[in-house]
Amino acid sequence: MTIRAVRGVHDILPGEGEKWRRVERIARDVFDSYGYEEIRLPIFERTELFARTIGEATDIVQKEMYTFQDRGGDSVTLRPEATAGLLRAYIEHGLFVHPKPIKLYTMGPMFRYERPQAGRYRQFHQLDVEALGDEHASLDAEMIAMLVEFFRRLDLAQRLQVEINSLGDEKPECRPRYRTELVRYLRANADRLCEECRERIERNPLRVLDCKKPECRRVLDRAPALGDFLCADCAAHFGKTREYLEATGVPHVVSPRLVRGLDYYMRTTFELTTTELGAQNAVAGGGRYDGLIKLLGGPPDPGIGFAVGVERVVQLLPDEGPEAWEGRRVGVFLIPLGEEPLKRLLPIANQLRSKGLVVEVGHGERKLGRELERANKLPQAKRLGVLQAVILGPDELARGEAIVRELKSGTQRTVPLSGLVDELLALGGRA
Ligand code: AMP
Repeated sequence: MTIRAVRGVHDILPGEGEKWRRVERIARDVFDSYGYEEIRLPIFERTELFARTIGEATDIVQKEMYTFQDRGGDSVTLRPEATAGLLRAYIEHGLFVHPKPIKLYTMGPMFRYERPQAGRYRQFHQLDVEALGDEHASLDAEMIAMLVEFFRRLDLAQRLQVEINSLGDEKPECRPRYRTELVRYLRANADRLCEECRERIERNPLRVLDCKKPECRRVLDRAPALGDFLCADCAAHFGKTREYLEATGVPHVVSPRLVRGLDYYMRTTFELTTTELGAQNAVAGGGRYDGLIKLLGGPPDPGIGFAVGVERVVQLLPDEGPEAWEGRRVGVFLIPLGEEPLKRLLPIANQLRSKGLVVEVGHGERKLGRELERANKLPQAKRLGVLQAVILGPDELARGEAIVRELKSGTQRTVPLSGLVDELLALGGRA
């Protein structure tokens, strides 16, 4: 019996790779331009790190973590998100001694034992960005603007909506006051809520607001709104964030019931949503988590960050023709006809590759017709701008020449072997 991939886990096949590379390239470009630096983090951490940061009562910690004991008996967990590990590294390496905010990003796979469905996987990928040590509202606005800029560069911004909200903070007059009010309302309407929501009322009441079931929505849309309960500081912070967003020209809507699945969020939260992906409508989300770094034993630094779901972004990207492919390069297919021509072409192949051309070399054993057919069908051919074949048989070799054939049109010319590299490089390459 053949072995298949684990449920909810998928391969990214060669044909899809170009979109992934594009997403990652643009992410790096945009994040770099806002002064963010890359940090690369381990894929697994001590289990307690996630329990402490994400929250014991959250779905992630209660039911979605891939946790196991390693052979030394330590409990470790495949990271369900990147923020916790990033903050761990920030504290462990004393990164906070540098001028703040410290701006960092990372990218890679995350793991959650969720029910697999369209757009929801058990291994998925995120771009994760965090700015630490600064609580000014202009940073919140800059971060949201950067996220929108990333999508604008992918030509997706107009298909997404920026939703923002403030979750307030844990001062008694702020979110706790709201939580009490919300729990009272939810208890009073519990008989009209689904079972999951009813369970959450006491455990994680804000999260109830997130339920998508129509019968629950009818109740939840009329629930008290957190925005009406914000303390003066949180209300001012939210107002400023919106002003700076407007000054930057970032259209957004306030979604009073936007809450997020992780406990640590406070004040600014945001999501980029689309109507094009069905139930899994969020392509990115994030928010502020002042207090979390201290909770982990670090300095009392505030923090804000977001994560982009790469699978969902890739799903939104259109299939494009070769013209649109970035990093378009010249492709050369070297076709030796026989052993001696092969040996003559091998060093030429390396010279061309070192100058940035994409080069494939035949083995010298197949018939010319077969080789030309193969050249045209190479999967990478559609990624390449100009596609040339170089044909070198024993006769050409004896004359010190090669035939250069433009594959699409079939036009050919004869070129002296001594000038072959320059001739091909003239079509494109790098100095
Ligand atoms: P979160 O870390 O839950 O705030 O998620 C941030 C983003 O990651 C979401 O907006 C999704 O785009 C993506 N995401 C989260 N969970 C999954 C999953 N199980 N499969 C695919 N993408 C996900």
